[in-house]
Amino acid sequence: MLPVLLVELTTVALVAVSLRGANIDPSAALLATMLCGFGLLHTEIAVRVERVRRRVSVTAHVDLSSVWTFAAALLLPPALAAVVAVVVFTHLWWRSWRPRVAVYRHVFSTATIVLACLAVSAVMAADIGGGGINLLSVGLALLVYTTVNSALVAGAIAMSSAQPDLSTALGRWDDNMLEIATLSLGALTAVALSVNPLLVLFVLPPLLVLHRAVLVRHLEEAASTDGKTGLLNAAAWMVQAERALRKSVRRGAPCGVLVLDLDHFKLVNDTHGHIAGDHVLAAVADTLRTEVRERDLVGRFGGEEFVVLLDELGERGAGELEAVAERIRHRVAALRVEIPTPDGPLTVSGLSVSIGGAVSPTDDAELRSVLQVADTALYSAKRAGRNLVRLGRALPSPSPTSSGLPPAAAG
Ligand code: GH3
Ligand code: MG
Ligand code: MG
Repeated sequence: MLPVLLVELTTVALVAVSLRGANIDPSAALLATMLCGFGLLHTEIAVRVERVRRRVSVTAHVDLSSVWTFAAALLLPPALAAVVAVVVFTHLWWRSWRPRVAVYRHVFSTATIVLACLAVSAVMAADIGGGGINLLSVGLALLVYTTVNSALVAGAIAMSSAQPDLSTALGRWDDNMLEIATLSLGALTAVALSVNPLLVLFVLPPLLVLHRAVLVRHLEEAASTDGKTGLLNAAAWMVQAERALRKSVRRGAPCGVLVLDLDHFKLVNDTHGHIAGDHVLAAVADTLRTEVRERDLVGRFGGEEFVVLLDELGERGAGELEAVAERIRHRVAALRVEIPTPDGPLTVSGLSVSIGGAVSPTDDAELRSVLQVADTALYSAKRAGRNLVRLGRALPSPSPTSSGLPPAAAG
């Protein structure tokens, strides 16, 4: 909390200093008013798309309104650029983000944008590449703006998360690409404004197309995610696992598939209720995610059944798959799920999971065949008393002339 406050106080102090020294001429004030006007117009036109995006988005949020603040930072004295940032982002928050984004988060993210603008003003004041807007100064300004903004946001994410992880803090590469696209449009806006302010109208159509493109990605993401656990849903897992398996086959490395089913899960529901059952499913999903590598695919197959695809297993193949499965089985057995209830916290423990696994053949492999083998192995684990791992032996895929699934040899 203290570092966040520090960032906010620093921002206020720097803006106050730049306001005191500001010598604002009427043309700069007019430019700032125009940028605020375009920013407000942009928010109003995109308000519906942005609201949907906020609702479905699970990843870090890139602000397309940076087009206006970056242009302001390139053209205006620092105090005026800060005013544009505050006006545009507060209006955006008021119209599209409230109440999903709390005031304190809005204040912090506005502070990071103001700081980024002040840093860009410093770059522009250094008259790099002969001064004014040129390739070198804009390139450097772009780098400085995204670095300041991302570093502060990454710091805040790292501090608020229990398990800080660099890739989450740095954001996804396509979000970063979006930020660069937005700032590039901001640079072109600054150029247009210096030639003829009306030319800025040509910035609005590509900006709205960018909004739509981003929304489509977020909707795709929401459609492939299981709502209760945040894992891939069955359909999305199948599509991605098929792709990963094909890639592994091309590289001649085997893939491993695990099918997991919680033991006597109906008892959890019957004893503690379905809401508690849902908490347990989410906790098991978290355990699965943390026990495999980032690139492995974890999905909820349905009910209390999960699937994992471990791509490109090492030399040990089946041995490695079995070790991962055993680790997961132990972690689930040790799990204590704390569930808040109106009567105080409830702890569910004593869970167990049965796991079936199969390793794909390296020459040619079909996902459904490998899954079938893992599923048969799972049933053999259940029959043998539950809370067990069993691996099946995956046979090569049938040739195009034969039909049916290969038999599984559970061992
Ligand atoms: P087994 O060891 O043989 O797997 O026994 P089980 O009780 O786990 O299996 P069964 O198939 O009899 O029951 C599965 C239970 O999972 C029944 C169903 O109510 C519960 N379930 C399925 N989906 C959900 C869900 O989304 N939330 C909750 N809370 N329970 C669910
Ligand atoms: Mg089941
Ligand atoms: Mg079960």
